[in-house]
Amino acid sequence: MPATVRLHDKLFRVSISEAQILERVAQVAAQIEADMAGRRLLVVAVLNGSFVFAADLLRRLPAACEVQFVKLASYEGTSSTGRVRELVGLGADLHGRAVLVVEDIVDSGLTMAHMLQTLRAMGPASVDVCSLLVKPASLRVALDIKYRCFDIPDDFIVGYGLDYDGAGRGLRDIYTVVDEG
Ligand code: 5GP
Ligand code: MG
Repeated sequence: MPATVRLHDKLFRVSISEAQILERVAQVAAQIEADMAGRRLLVVAVLNGSFVFAADLLRRLPAACEVQFVKLASYEGTSSTGRVRELVGLGADLHGRAVLVVEDIVDSGLTMAHMLQTLRAMGPASVDVCSLLVKPASLRVALDIKYRCFDIPDDFIVGYGLDYDGAGRGLRDIYTVVDEG
């Protein structure tokens, strides 16, 4: 993989290599496996950005582990409620399940806070968060992120599932935007 890549109007440079990512994913998977022994684990992976991370993580978890892909659909409400964010794609009954929410990145934390509120209302035995990336300086809500691969600075990144205006999801490494100003 080249050290830099241009997507649309921006230049990006490798900041976390594929090897570093896969090493951390294996460590975090081992931690999850140890913590979740004997539990009925259901991975709830948040589309689109988490699809690559979820695939790598799942393949390092026990074979009995299940996965569901969900999406937070945003639309303007028809009444006075304003913007509505609905969780779509979750078919499983969560009662008694140990739910692990898998995200690409937690930035302000607002998306994850909303997701947790929705999932907890569905009666699971537990809900934990596993995020590939966290931007601690950007967090605006109190969140317990039990599993995380990397804490990163508050810069825009792409690759390994994350996009810049649709592009870059297939990059094997994680890239950070280069300030060309
Ligand atoms: P939050 O609600 O935590 O502010 O936003 C989380 C979502 O914002 C992520 O799931 C992701 O879609 C997007 N996001 C936040 N930071 C970045 C970034 O650096 N790069 C990309 N590609 N998406 C980001
Ligand atoms: Mg996301």
